[in-house]
Amino acid sequence: NENILQPEAAIDEGKQEESIRPQRFADYIGQKDLKDVLDIAIKAAKSRGEVLDHLLLYGPPGLGKTTMAMILASEMGVNYKITSAPALERPRDIAGLLVNLKPGDILFVDEIHRLSRMTEEILYPAMEDYRLDITIGKGTSSRIRSVPLSKFTLVGATTRVGALTSPLRDRFGLVQKLRFYEVDELSLIVLRSAQLLQTPVTEDGATEIARRSRGTPRIANRLLKRVRDYAEVKSSGEITGSVAAEALQLFQVDPCGLDWTDRKMLSVIIEQFNGGPVGLETIAAATGEDSQTIEEVYEPYLMQIGYLSRTPRGRVATKAAYKHLDFKPPNEQLS
Ligand code: ATP
Repeated sequence: NENILQPEAAIDEGKQEESIRPQRFADYIGQKDLKDVLDIAIKAAKSRGEVLDHLLLYGPPGLGKTTMAMILASEMGVNYKITSAPALERPRDIAGLLVNLKPGDILFVDEIHRLSRMTEEILYPAMEDYRLDITIGKGTSSRIRSVPLSKFTLVGATTRVGALTSPLRDRFGLVQKLRFYEVDELSLIVLRSAQLLQTPVTEDGATEIARRSRGTPRIANRLLKRVRDYAEVKSSGEITGSVAAEALQLFQVDPCGLDWTDRKMLSVIIEQFNGGPVGLETIAAATGEDSQTIEEVYEPYLMQIGYLSRTPRGRVATKAAYKHLDFKPPNEQLS
């Protein structure tokens, strides 16, 4: 059951993404705060001839964490290695990567909140003193041998910054949040990608796709490709506002980018709980999604577009949510 509004990369989609991934700072659209901070960090590191501080990027999936790590490497003129915590189960996995880093290299670790305890402990001296401590032998006769490492930059990415242990978090010199993109920023991303894909698109066409992309570049690019197919088959090939709207309606993408789970969440709160507040677990049970996904993927977007608010007693559906789902807002109901 494919979900085109899913912010995680689909299997095999990763490779396709490479052709339109921005390569330079100047092509990375939006995230102004992040870029301002990193621009200074890059210039300072370069002028002192030092490596970049370790950087922790957090925020929902598909917003450009991996892309930013790759851009940092190209701006610094260094190489990068990309890995993810589940691939670093055994101590030797991380040790192997660390000893092969050249001075200044960037090591990107995705899902860094999921590191095993042993791997995490190897990272502490590596991040702090560029030193790899390996334990040789077992039990009472074991010794620690230290191997010097090249000075490198660790870029960690996570959707759950609160799940990081504090010793790990404290070892990052820079901690930066990525936020959802605005519609005008996503439109620019769509226009840029369309150009690379050699697909004609009008500004209205780009805006129509942007509005339905859940604030997420990965989804914007995916919708663009689907609409391109539609435009080629059903019309002249040009993506206009009406062609995009028709195509996305056919693919059942709602005008605000809501999917089945978003709608279910809101309608449960409205219909069964009179608008809320409703606890997270109740919402999870009613939608069949796990509560972590609700919290990390669904809620942030619904809050961003003003359909859901969080109160100490639970989640509340806003007036805008009632309107979008064609329910009468509570204060307009006759008692
Ligand atoms: P995940 O953690 O789920 O892998 P991510 O945050 O690392 O997600 P990326 O893989 O960096 O996301 O980005 C997804 C796609 O979105 C990229 O292929 C890239 O083309 C596009 N993209 C991301 N950010 C931007 C941006 N600021 N400008 C233009 N395109 C972007």
